[in-house]
Amino acid sequence: MKEPIAVPVAIVGAGPVGLAAGLELMRFGIPFQIFEEDDTLSSKPKAGTILPRSLEIFAGEGIIDGVLREGLRFDEVHFVDRPTDKVLMRMLMSPMGDETRYPFIVNLPQNDLEALMQAALCQGGHSIRFQHQLKTISQDAGGCHLWFETPEGPMEVAAQFVLACDGGRSIIRHQLGIEMAGVTHPERFLVADFKVDLDRRTGRPLTYLSYIFDPEEWVIFVRQPRFWRFLIPIPQGASEPSQVEVIDKVRRVVKNSMLPIDFLDMGVYHVHHRTAKTWQKDRIFLLGDAAHLITPVGGLGMNTGIQDANNLAWKIAWVLNHHADRALLETYESERAPIARFNARNQADRNRDVMRMKSPIKRVGRNLILGWMDRADGLQWQASHARSLLGTSYKPARKPPSLLTQIGTARHFVRPPIEVGDRVPDGAVMGSDGKRHHLHSLLEKEFVALLLMDPRKRMAVDPDVPGLHQYVMHRFDAAFDTGLRERALLDPGGHLQKKLGIDEEHFILIRPDAHVEVIAPFLESSSIVQAYQGFIQQQLPTELPKTGVL
Ligand SMILES: Cc1cc2nc3c(=O)[nH]c(=O)nc-3n(C[C@H](O)[C@H](O)[C@H](O)COP(=O)(O)OP(=O)(O)OC[C@H]3O[C@@H](n4cnc5c(N)ncnc54)[C@H](O)[C@@H]3O)c2cc1C
Repeated sequence: MKEPIAVPVAIVGAGPVGLAAGLELMRFGIPFQIFEEDDTLSSKPKAGTILPRSLEIFAGEGIIDGVLREGLRFDEVHFVDRPTDKVLMRMLMSPMGDETRYPFIVNLPQNDLEALMQAALCQGGHSIRFQHQLKTISQDAGGCHLWFETPEGPMEVAAQFVLACDGGRSIIRHQLGIEMAGVTHPERFLVADFKVDLDRRTGRPLTYLSYIFDPEEWVIFVRQPRFWRFLIPIPQGASEPSQVEVIDKVRRVVKNSMLPIDFLDMGVYHVHHRTAKTWQKDRIFLLGDAAHLITPVGGLGMNTGIQDANNLAWKIAWVLNHHADRALLETYESERAPIARFNARNQADRNRDVMRMKSPIKRVGRNLILGWMDRADGLQWQASHARSLLGTSYKPARKPPSLLTQIGTARHFVRPPIEVGDRVPDGAVMGSDGKRHHLHSLLEKEFVALLLMDPRKRMAVDPDVPGLHQYVMHRFDAAFDTGLRERALLDPGGHLQKKLGIDEEHFILIRPDAHVEVIAPFLESSSIVQAYQGFIQQQLPTELPKTGVL
């Protein structure tokens, strides 16, 4: 047995979520090691759709340029009635143009995304330990112990924290005895990739993501940067279609029996809707498919996992840097598990139900609602805010607006004010360095407090504390003799403040994952620092045990 190696954070699994977790920890300068049982990254294209919120996260992780360069960007998702070939609804991402720098979806095969992530990790000086298969894991008061099988023999690793990113069959989840709640659907999904020219299809041109509804056999078409993907259900008990049969099915859907098609690849997957009953056991955390298996109708599995990594990594960084106590880590499960359950049940599974609706009466109702959503700006905004995952919120459970309110706001829509738990919308401001900044780029390494106050009032603001930077944001710039110049963010015309919907003389405390933690009146100089420390320290029942690993 080799000498045990010690790392503050061990990441098990180099799928997209393990790699994203590494990039997030790298962003905060936390040492980590990724272990992967295979000898390379996966070559399976699997996830192919990256949603706007993941693009924002990738900007923070430093891989956005590569993703935009390699991927296929698009605005319109179509919901189509197969029997009539009528587009029932065009869901647009462009209504998010005032919310994010990335108001579009990007199609990019998962294996290409993983290669970009690996390159960024490499550039940051991090390698992946391939051919390290985790066999056993345990933990005690001092930390976690992992035993790997490697080509050089067994290896032991000691870590303060373990991120289980080892996928749907997670050995870590299994060894911790954590059960999954939910269902496995009776049908399987067939995913096939082709070289085919559907761009110049006669009749209705295909957008880059189409959900084609049919009670007998629904279909999803996804345009990837270099090929087309086709997804259909295989009914319970039916055998897998051959390549020839699949090609025939594609031709039938696009109503062109002579269409030339080059077959590339095909896979059959079981479809689940399951989430882990527990996401944390002391120092070990489940992320991505290890924590949730989401039906791939809606492209939510990997996107949800990317958000898991974005939620947990800064908390681990704050704990390891002694800014916060370990109890902060418990907010990972309380915040993320409800989101994963919502994405699995109310988004992905509902998409599946809507696509295969059998009752003709229900289908008439569905088509009317979709037609209405297609035309009402407010409903379009709400749909794309939710579907892009920009609407993910960790706010305490709250009653959704009544149907009447929703109908009332559907046509003449005004963005609702932000609330605690929401992801803060992005927006441009002018910094004291004379440069234009995006609010989200200020959040890359720390908490940001925005004090919405006229700097001419010359209010006193406490000095910053580790992990927190305070800004005064206003439509009036701060003169040098106010003492606030270094903190000033000029918000021309008060545009960003109006978008946030928060009154002057308030402050907003925003976390490094862009979610709002506090909105409160600014009472005195210490208000902001107290609120920040209250959040990270009120959960400080014990000292971080000394493990000797750091
Ligand atoms: C057909 C299909 C289409 C999809 N489309 C989308 C989409 O468009 N958008 C979307 O968001 N999601 C989509 N998904 C879901 C997405 O592919 C998964 O959610 C995603 O792969 C999960 O990533 P992960 O890193 O959690 O797990 P995985 O990708 O499964 O990676 C886990 C890694 O852990 C490694 N590992 C496992 N056990 C061990 C061990 N004992 N020791 C060391 N290493 C280990 C594995 O080798 C693997 O590399 C799709 C899935 C399928 C099947």
